[in-house]
Amino acid sequence: MISALDRHGRPRSSSCGRSSIGTSFNLVSTPMETQSMLGRVFTRLTVISEAPRANRKRRWHCSCSCGGTTTAYHWSLLAGRSRSCGCLKSEELNKWQAERLHGKCDTPEYKIWTLMKRRCFDAKYRGYPKYGGRGIIVCDEWQNSFMAFRRDVGPQPSPYHTLERVDEDKAFCPSNCRWLKTRARKARLP
Ligand SMILES: [Zn+2]
Repeated sequence: MISALDRHGRPRSSSCGRSSIGTSFNLVSTPMETQSMLGRVFTRLTVISEAPRANRKRRWHCSCSCGGTTTAYHWSLLAGRSRSCGCLKSEELNKWQAERLHGKCDTPEYKIWTLMKRRCFDAKYRGYPKYGGRGIIVCDEWQNSFMAFRRDVGPQPSPYHTLERVDEDKAFCPSNCRWLKTRARKARLP
């Protein structure tokens, strides 16, 4: 397994005082260490085989649950930094676009979410004086994520329901909002 020649094809020298075996022991993982890593799963990655080192650091060939492959640093896997071939990161970065692609922007909840934010933060919007103009805001989590808003309020029970605030002087946030059935034929937006 360990070549008697160095990477330039010359016989390994032990004249420096460190034996070639000692050097190899430091650089090459023992079979047992390798065995314990093979097949281990790190989020979406499964370790397949050891990869050539880079910058003297151990690396592993990994397959990703999305079907992709990648080479990850040993430390990075153990530290939880390498979790996928890159698909997870791009999914997280594109979550916003993904939400749109999945058609959520066509749902009534999405329209309500958009209008709620315009009324609170868009000074040019006609409803602003009653909302943002009075200091009514949307909580940070809802402001930044439609998915969080949708998770907290759930689906609009019917087209006759509006999202109402329990205390009209307080913010749009999970504890202050509920769906309320209106008498009107079709509900107004918040
Ligand atoms: Zn992947």
